[in-house]
Amino acid sequence: MQVFSFFVRDLAPEALTVEYSARFQIPGFQILGLPAPEIQEARERIISAFQASGLEFPKKRILINLAPASIRKSGTGHDLAIAMKILSETIDYSSATRVIACGELGLDGTIRPSGKMGHLIELLQGKIPDPSGLSLILGTEDHAEFNRLLHWRARNGFQNPDPGHVMCIGHLRQLLLPPDSMALDAITLEDPDPVSGSPSEKTLLPLGALQERVLKIASVGRHHTLLLGPKGVGKSASMDWFRALAAPSAKNAAWERALYQESRNEKPDFHSPIRQVHSQVRPAHLLGSFHSGAFRAGELSLAHGGMFFADEFPEWPRDSKECLREPLQSESFQLTSVRGTLRAKCDLQLIGSGNLCPCGGFPARFQSHVHTRTATCRCSEAEVRKYLQRLSGPILDRIDLWAVFSGADRELESKNGSLETLSLQVSRARLLAHAVHGVAPARIPPDKLERLIPKSARSLRLLNSTDSLRDRHKLVRIACSIAALEGLESPDHSSFDEALSYRMFERII
Ligand SMILES: [Zn+2]
Repeated sequence: MQVFSFFVRDLAPEALTVEYSARFQIPGFQILGLPAPEIQEARERIISAFQASGLEFPKKRILINLAPASIRKSGTGHDLAIAMKILSETIDYSSATRVIACGELGLDGTIRPSGKMGHLIELLQGKIPDPSGLSLILGTEDHAEFNRLLHWRARNGFQNPDPGHVMCIGHLRQLLLPPDSMALDAITLEDPDPVSGSPSEKTLLPLGALQERVLKIASVGRHHTLLLGPKGVGKSASMDWFRALAAPSAKNAAWERALYQESRNEKPDFHSPIRQVHSQVRPAHLLGSFHSGAFRAGELSLAHGGMFFADEFPEWPRDSKECLREPLQSESFQLTSVRGTLRAKCDLQLIGSGNLCPCGGFPARFQSHVHTRTATCRCSEAEVRKYLQRLSGPILDRIDLWAVFSGADRELESKNGSLETLSLQVSRARLLAHAVHGVAPARIPPDKLERLIPKSARSLRLLNSTDSLRDRHKLVRIACSIAALEGLESPDHSSFDEALSYRMFERII
């Protein structure tokens, strides 16, 4: 009987063959094939699980080889495959000739989840020859998860692999039964559809006219956005509204993200992600790690297909801000280790927020929604200037939309639309933009953007006032979102005028 397990290298699963050899020498048990310490420890778990299950562990010198032997393997999901291989030498499993087994063993013989069912589906999807001739042996939890993922994929139009004969066991003892009798009752499938975890209408604070407009434009176009202003002006309230209007992830991004979540031993979650990090975040936390072929996803990959909130963005360490350059530019980034490189995806919308001075009181006078009030700013002019300098540099070229809230427009809050109205307006505009451009306006490629500019002297003069080609393209992208909100297929003069008004904030700073 051939027994397989699998490991993940450079984000892709690869099958490994479990080989067995036993000699009549002093009893011993050794695992070969560059196993990580947790695989070495499997020896003790397996011997103990055999005893607890009333099985006799062979009194021989046992060698287990995990082939290919030249690649380092990690993870605890190989325990069941190794145990199965040892048992197959004494028990006749003639009805199953090729088996993939996944699961971790407890000392009492119970099977724990390996947590890599998304990768197992990828493996069956053409990475292993003749998957339909395989028998699949999974623990109870892994089996439920495997079914949940297959069910989600089927509902979202993915081609599912034929998993062959799937068997489910809860305890090592059950391996004594003939393989055909291992299948348990059908699993009741959880509904994997996104459940709205967004804030309810009651918890949302009213927004000013400018805040509402910026919210709508950024939500329609998936623009990277920076919200600035003194404390108490409603930046956090805007973030809550962004959360409430989040669009569901694209199907492919949701599946790719599921694999990233498994790389961190998290259960895949298909809700549109909203990741939030604190201001002292480090580059390794954002990008993840990549050592010896093993990738552990960072916050950016976990936000793939969703939103990424960067609170107190000006306070971020310089290197953390700088490491966002490639991810924001190309929606993916490269990680390098001694053994090679890996490209991880992160198609996300960045929403940053921050103050305009270290104490958060600048500008000192602004009108709140109840009265004009004077905030106290204890910073000197030099300190404010130094603080604002943190908001310059190449990373900020990649942020489409800038807005400085002063609070002065909050008197218009009575005109604030309800959550239902806003969702309706935003989703209608999103549909229109997708129908016209095929992608969200922030993702329109540069060559297409040039064709969207109306050929009139006025709009050309407007666009020529931008400093660089990147600025010019940002302007067209924002104008496209504004046009979609107004129900227009392509931007007109007023869309460009409004888009330029947001660029003014950037210039002032
Ligand atoms: Zn201040």
